[in-house]
Amino acid sequence: MSEAGVVILGNGHAGVSVAEQLRRKKYPGAITLIGAEAGLPYQRPPLSKQYLKGEWDEARLLQRNAEFYRNNDIRLIASDSVISIDPSAHRLELKSGATLPWDKLVLATGSCLQKLEIPGADAEGVVYLQNREQADALKSEMRSARRAVVIGGGYIGLEGAAALALAGLDVTLVNRSSELLARSASLPVAHWIQRRHEKQGVVFKLGEQLAEILSADNRVRGVRLANGEVLEAELVLIGIGVKPDTGLAESIGLECADGVLVDQKGVTSHPDILAAGDCTRFNHPLYGEAIHLESIQNAVEQGKRVAATLMGEEGTYDAVPWFWSDQYEAKLQIAGIAQGHDLEVIRGDEHAERFSVFCYAQRRLVAVESINAPAEHMLARQLLKAGASPPPDDAANPEFNLRSALPS
Ligand code: NAP
Repeated sequence: MSEAGVVILGNGHAGVSVAEQLRRKKYPGAITLIGAEAGLPYQRPPLSKQYLKGEWDEARLLQRNAEFYRNNDIRLIASDSVISIDPSAHRLELKSGATLPWDKLVLATGSCLQKLEIPGADAEGVVYLQNREQADALKSEMRSARRAVVIGGGYIGLEGAAALALAGLDVTLVNRSSELLARSASLPVAHWIQRRHEKQGVVFKLGEQLAEILSADNRVRGVRLANGEVLEAELVLIGIGVKPDTGLAESIGLECADGVLVDQKGVTSHPDILAAGDCTRFNHPLYGEAIHLESIQNAVEQGKRVAATLMGEEGTYDAVPWFWSDQYEAKLQIAGIAQGHDLEVIRGDEHAERFSVFCYAQRRLVAVESINAPAEHMLARQLLKAGASPPPDDAANPEFNLRSALPS
């Protein structure tokens, strides 16, 4: 083995998972982890939850402390990014001017923010929430603002709206679709979440487009919707989605299709370049077609698979996807992927504090979405892993023991 070892581009959850697992598996070579931001790698989910609400400080956000990387001989390069890769020479060039050799390269480049391209979008007080610096900016804006407009009814928008409402701001959320979480949850769950926010005073403008962000002296003072309505606000939070960051992969001709294409071992179309996390698209045995996941679970588990592949271990990636979101005291947990389902049944009462939605495609269970039902969520993960589908009528019957649907 040469001195070059494994170089990992991106120090989010996928990148750190690869590095950690390689050392756990006693990888003998050098490991280098490169991140564009300053400081140690940190967790992103709390940015729109505990960190925004002031419950966690910066130290608690860290994935691992400095000692961990030192003790495990993982070289961290921070505040720098890769500007070019030469696959045939197995070298890459950093923005700082340095070049690095690699035996194996791992792309864990994550996602790029979708920016709202409308007049006024660069005014002060308009914020996004993808990294710690932006979370700090939002926290600072929250201190002086009285009214907020949140643009986007996905996870960032809804978790952000909850934190803003809890901080006492008047919040209006504008979403392009007529339903919240249209990409990621069933209607009963989306409606439950909407009602919970409304109870907190959040006002929804659904199925609406933005025309412009209004400002005075480059400081935001509200938004104008396409229908002409003006919403006054001192703070605008934008969460309108992300795209897989495939820029470097495309620059060296790796196969990409709205994500870096990897096989079930995490290998790209170049045998010495692997990829993990939000930047990838891959075939999942449970879902047939190539899927792209934006989740911590996938970043961590796919990172583990990539490390195993680098160690020459057999096996393929087949982890059941799962997601969660915290809004107020409510916990939404999703096991599997509901996209394309043709039947859903509700276990429990969708107007109560706790229920689950079982989603089927051609009578095969493909996803279970739970509100405040963690035990059902854990069982759902087991059912999906085992390929077990309780008949819809049984799933809808709270007296039916879901465990009995698991293979013995
Ligand atoms: P998202 O989940 O894709 O939601 C984006 C939302 O913005 C959608 O409701 C979309 O509506 C709406 N939208 C798009 N363009 C719009 C426009 N011009 N005007 C108004 N609304 C518009 O993305 P996100 O909430 O920004 O989250 C970003 C990433 O962070 C995702 O990967 C997400 O999974 C991740 N994240 C996850 C969690 C969690 O799992 N708990 C928490 C925070 C962040 P349409 O339906 O019309 O497209």
